[in-house]
Parts: sequence; structure tokens; C-alpha cells
Amino acid sequence: MSANDRGAMEGETADRLNLLGLSPTELQAEVGRLVGWVRWLQRQDVDVPTCWVVHGFVVRLLQALRLYHLSVASPFEAIAWWRSVLECMARPEVDRLRRHDADHGWTDLELDRGQVSEADVLVKFLTAQQAVEESR
Ligand SMILES: [Zn+2]
Repeated sequence: MSANDRGAMEGETADRLNLLGLSPTELQAEVGRLVGWVRWLQRQDVDVPTCWVVHGFVVRLLQALRLYHLSVASPFEAIAWWRSVLECMARPEVDRLRRHDADHGWTDLELDRGQVSEADVLVKFLTAQQAVEESR
């Protein structure tokens, strides 16, 4: 990656950290990338709570980890990044979500059967948050 690419990516990273600042089109694209990346993380055996898409702090944490992942350029940074992932997913606030019995407005079964996609739930959730922020 050239210094120019890195500079461009850092600018983009700052914009993409704030999911609520994105336009509907950008949000849809960014959510697609985030959901795909979280699935990749799960395939690496990282235990991400199934209802992560409706918990703002986990969404923001995962987005930050995804953007951090894009900047990893050495084995040393990769180890630091993995340590961050595992520490974040083991945090008590995140662990609580694995056992809580909350009503999210959709059932885990619907999500499992593919009747509701994680991306659709996440776009809906973030769009509702954007509306709340704009009304302030
Ligand atoms: Zn939940």
C-alpha cells in the first residue's frame, strides 16, 4: 500500500467510523461490508453475540475493529489486532448479550431461517438512530 493510499484510507476511515453520518446509499454499502466481515470473524471462531446488529456499542466496536483490520500491515500489528478482537468480545458488557433474553422486535429463528437478514436489521436500526440524532 502506498503512502497515498494509506492517507486516503485514513480519511475514509474517519468518515466510516461514524456510521450515523453516512447517506442512505453509503450506509447500505458500509453495512453490507460490516455484516460480511463479521461473518468472516465468526468463521474464525470468534463468538460474536447473535443480536449484535441491534446493540449500538457492539456495532460501533465491530466497525472500529473492521477498520483497524484494514490498516494492519505487519505480523506485530496483526497480533495486536487479534488481541483487541478477543478482548473486546470477552468484555462483560458484550458477554452479557450472549445470555440476555431481550425482545429485539424480531426472533433469532427468523434470522436463522434467513427470513430477516442481519444487514436489513442493521440498516433499520441505524436509520432509526439517525432520525433520533437529527431530531435533537
Ligand atoms: Zn440483544
